Amino acid sequence: MRLIKGNNVKLDQFPEDLRPHLIPAPAGEMVYRCLECGAEFDITDLLYTCPKCRGLFMLVDKNEGRLKEKPGAFWRQLFDYRKMLNVPALKGVFLFYELIAPIIPLDRIIYLGEGHTPQVAANGDLACEVGRTFYFKNDGQNPSASFKDRGMAAALSYLNFLVSSRHLGKILSICASTGDTSAAAALYGAYLGDKIASAVILPHGKVTPQQLSQPLGSGAKVLEIPGVFDDCMKVVENLADHYQVALLNSKNSWRIRGQESYAYEIAQWFDYDLAGKSLVVPVGNAGNITAVMQGLLRLHDLGIIEALPRVIGVQSRHANPVFLYYLEADRGKRVFVPVTVTPSVAQAAMIGNPVSMPRVIRLVEEYRGRAGEGSVAVVQVTEQEIMDSMLLANRHGHIACTQGGESLAGFRAAVAAGLLSDPLSQVPQQALLAVAIAAAVLAITGFCVSIASGMRQRRTENALLAALGVPPRSAEAFGVNEADRKWVDDLCVPQPFHVADRAQRRTGAYRAQDLYSRQRLPQSEF
Ligand SMILES: [Zn+2]
Repeated sequence: MRLIKGNNVKLDQFPEDLRPHLIPAPAGEMVYRCLECGAEFDITDLLYTCPKCRGLFMLVDKNEGRLKEKPGAFWRQLFDYRKMLNVPALKGVFLFYELIAPIIPLDRIIYLGEGHTPQVAANGDLACEVGRTFYFKNDGQNPSASFKDRGMAAALSYLNFLVSSRHLGKILSICASTGDTSAAAALYGAYLGDKIASAVILPHGKVTPQQLSQPLGSGAKVLEIPGVFDDCMKVVENLADHYQVALLNSKNSWRIRGQESYAYEIAQWFDYDLAGKSLVVPVGNAGNITAVMQGLLRLHDLGIIEALPRVIGVQSRHANPVFLYYLEADRGKRVFVPVTVTPSVAQAAMIGNPVSMPRVIRLVEEYRGRAGEGSVAVVQVTEQEIMDSMLLANRHGHIACTQGGESLAGFRAAVAAGLLSDPLSQVPQQALLAVAIAAAVLAITGFCVSIASGMRQRRTENALLAALGVPPRSAEAFGVNEADRKWVDDLCVPQPFHVADRAQRRTGAYRAQDLYSRQRLPQSEF
């Protein structure tokens, strides 16, 4: 693998015992393993559910035992030194190559700048308000502005490898999404050019124009259907079951692998000492919390971390099937029942029947078995708490979207419920709020515009809030006075996309609605 000119540290400057391992070569033996019946399938097929029992897959490296031949200290040192290399393929989530997809040659890895997002400490006032020292992990700084890029980098690198090695020609990638997944899928698909044709399926009226602008700007075919996210999932699952297409939702187990890097980065950031710390993640389709738990368990397996941190999942009361499942203390009596969601400000988490629920159940069992009953908890929060927390974070210098607000609200709920004060929290004053700040600025922009519209027309605002199940509040309740109101009005209305972000600048988001209406298919075509 070629090194980029100008890299500061040359291979011969690294410790001798690490040199042969710094630039990895494929050595894994990966298979899809069904979580239900245990059957294994070749990864050269485009499979997402078990052909025998329709169970979900977990990707397994049958040769992972080789990694255990080295002590945890070796891996810690290797990953730390590898950060100093200027090899593009190893700059993103594949820094942890051996743990992600050690069957993909480096020259097939797609790197668009994802991963290694900053962990920003809450300032003194915010920490005081919440009652804990904590950090936001700002995944809004990924290329498509969401944490989904981690998984997409792995999934599209695998597709690139598959298409090239099997000479498949152009393949169709599909996903259902309320915004972030489609943005990431379309962006990475566009990078692969002629190898991939991207299509995304969105629920009509549930996505902000700013979020729509991303897949459209990357050249994806955008189709909208009536209903909510779960309805879109049914459509893409049916397509994936019956056609040779690449499904890019979190059923795609390569995505889970890529998203595990979130846990690896957190461990590395804290010098692999996660004892007494807590990770708080919003739960929608449950792909992210699954990846976080799986990543942490694998680090623990390899001795890279010695203690597992607590994991806290957060759901809105408007979409809380995972919370309800774990409300039953007796595991023998737990029954998973999908719920019908009501609109939530945390759009990305508005999912009543999480695709990854079988993975969640299996991993929570394993995690609790290893780290204790209190090591995984799921809390629920109200819509009002989500918005209040989002504003609280934003007013203290963090760019948090509603999902970020949901995480902070969940963190506050966990603190209030005393979940962080049992013996697992040896260091209760320090918690890590690993917030998946999804599509950070995009969601916020939409929210600001909503507030501004409401300011101009009170009835509109109240209708919006009512639709979200939030009691109507005065503008002052959001901390907006008359002067601010005028400022927001002037800022947002004539130029609704004034608060520009990377994606908007790239795609010319102001044309999104025009583009969208042109590409929208009549319902009869479904
Ligand atoms: Zn099966």
